[in-house]
Amino acid sequence: MLESLALYGGTPIRSTTLPYGRQWITEEDIAAVVEVLRSDWLTTGPQVAALEASFASMVGAQHAVAVSSGTAALHTMMAALGITSGDEVIVPTLTFAASANCVAYQGATPLFADIDPATLLLSPPEVERLISPRTRAILAVDYAGAPCDYSALQTLAERYGLHLLADGCHALGAKRDGHPVGSIAEMTAFSLHPVKHITAGEGGMVTTQDPILAQHIRLFRNHGITTDHREREQRKEWQYEMVELGFNYRITDMQCALALSQLRRLPDFLKRRSAIAQRYQKAFSTISGISPLQVPEGVDHAYHLYVVRVDSPTIDRNLFLRALRAEGIGANVHYWPVHLHPFYQKRYKTGPGQCPVAEAAACCIVSLPIFPRMTDRDVDDVITAVNKVLLGLHARL
Ligand SMILES: *Cc1c(COP(=O)(O)O)cnc(C)c1O
Repeated sequence: MLESLALYGGTPIRSTTLPYGRQWITEEDIAAVVEVLRSDWLTTGPQVAALEASFASMVGAQHAVAVSSGTAALHTMMAALGITSGDEVIVPTLTFAASANCVAYQGATPLFADIDPATLLLSPPEVERLISPRTRAILAVDYAGAPCDYSALQTLAERYGLHLLADGCHALGAKRDGHPVGSIAEMTAFSLHPVKHITAGEGGMVTTQDPILAQHIRLFRNHGITTDHREREQRKEWQYEMVELGFNYRITDMQCALALSQLRRLPDFLKRRSAIAQRYQKAFSTISGISPLQVPEGVDHAYHLYVVRVDSPTIDRNLFLRALRAEGIGANVHYWPVHLHPFYQKRYKTGPGQCPVAEAAACCIVSLPIFPRMTDRDVDDVITAVNKVLLGLHARL
């Protein structure tokens, strides 16, 4: 049994590796990009505005501002609120480093909150435990594509006078109690990286209902300069003023044309992700050794990730992961808790024991491949490989 595993010299389920996520580019997408290259505007042009308008309406937001990455979107949200040195922002620890880095960019302190053991989402009681007079905001992360408990977080934000922000990089198209991610928090950040729901190559978006925040985001993405060069041209003025220190976080029209073309297929992408998740759910409900995460009531999941826990006491997660990879299944771990990264341990004196639920989860979670272009055969390969590896590793004993 053990020898049948590819890790120990057996024949792998797949001869080439299935990645955990990847983009789906069509000829239509390519044509949209090429058309921009023949046009007058390569950046800060009509494709940027068109993407912003479609994106805003897709997530039920009044305003969407496109930027150069999801990380830039997160940083811009912090800057728009004036988060600065001496301030604290509460962030879940089970997330991509960028969710906390954006706080550090501003010289502020990220406070790492633990998560709910069943859903791995930011735990509102843990958030409340961390709130101090220096706390300015909560950054909710919709881990794997399941929106957080926003009504509980909103209650805390109101009670303590905090801003409620969202890192929605996993959750484009997701809903909580019927409300789309992007319309719930005061501001929400999205990423247009190739593994996310739709891509621009690199890119990001901030959505908000607040016109003043939207204006501030536009300012920050353009060096802190009050008008962009298109607006100036329209007004026939040469003068501009830099009113605060911003960045060049602009995005090109080629990127926005690609994302706009992709956005049209978002409903299909979401349906396919959900169908794959259901196929996994069904297959894994009858086998022991791994279990999918719980999905809370009222969640319309966007399934950026499909995460399972290895919960067999006799199977080591790292060995399980290596064995799956040897079978040609590009499984991954999302994430190593941010408070355990050397940078955070050094600069903010964080360390093991601080978020026990996340630390325990980080040792047993595995993300299985999920992306719209996967065929049913690909999905079946994953299921077959998971079964094979579980059986093989059990037999090791
Ligand atoms: C992808 C991602 C980001 C960063 O997005 P980029 O576009 O790669 O900068 C931030 N937070 C989370 C949770 C992400 O998954």
